[in-house]
Amino acid sequence: MNRRTFLLSAAILPLSFRLLAQKKLFSSEELTGHNSPVLFGKNHRLRKKAAEAFVEMQKSAEKEGIKLFSVSSYRSFDAQQNIWNNKYEKYLKTGLKPEEVIAKIIEYSAYPGASRHHWGTDLDVSDLNFLQPSDPLNPKHFKKGGVYENLYNWMSINAQKFDFYEVYTNETNRKGFNFEPWHYSYAGLSKPMLQAFLELDFKQHLSTKSIKGHQFIDQNFWNKYKKEYVLGINPALLP
Ligand SMILES: [Zn+2]
Repeated sequence: MNRRTFLLSAAILPLSFRLLAQKKLFSSEELTGHNSPVLFGKNHRLRKKAAEAFVEMQKSAEKEGIKLFSVSSYRSFDAQQNIWNNKYEKYLKTGLKPEEVIAKIIEYSAYPGASRHHWGTDLDVSDLNFLQPSDPLNPKHFKKGGVYENLYNWMSINAQKFDFYEVYTNETNRKGFNFEPWHYSYAGLSKPMLQAFLELDFKQHLSTKSIKGHQFIDQNFWNKYKKEYVLGINPALLP
């Protein structure tokens, strides 16, 4: 190799390797719930680092009398599609128009393929000290006087010590999904995954014909969804 070729490859190769490495870090299949990552945990299913941090957080909470556990963690595309399609049918029967049905579903539930639960970094929490109400994921249980008030207060102070952050906060300026006091994310992994997810072409990767109401989704919907729902999160979790 002559000096010129050496200098050229030294300048170009590291960059191309870096780009290649970035591209391979997360596939579009794992970002959209079509390919499950290796998951860890007994009663939760998370990527390794997130699972380990969650166990440490459980131990710490236990010392304060809180039996922290996960009611939902990794979720596949198919599971999210079931949630979506069931809600679609249910709301359509109430007489809402398809566009209204979709707006109603995305108050709390992500479009299949676009759920943070696909990443193995996010989970919904509860406290095993209390008998599970029939609707454990109802904000009223996490408010003052609710059965999960202690859990919520403890998580608000301590979760970030374990790199977990509330995603859909009660911040009034935040758009997108409603306040979800139960949903937390392991920032160390979810921030790079969000970065990779934002680089996907939503129309190409999220247009699946088996999703009910898909024919009412257009580019305007995706623009709004990305800006308000995907990015309408706790700023601590933005890449
Ligand atoms: Zn959740």
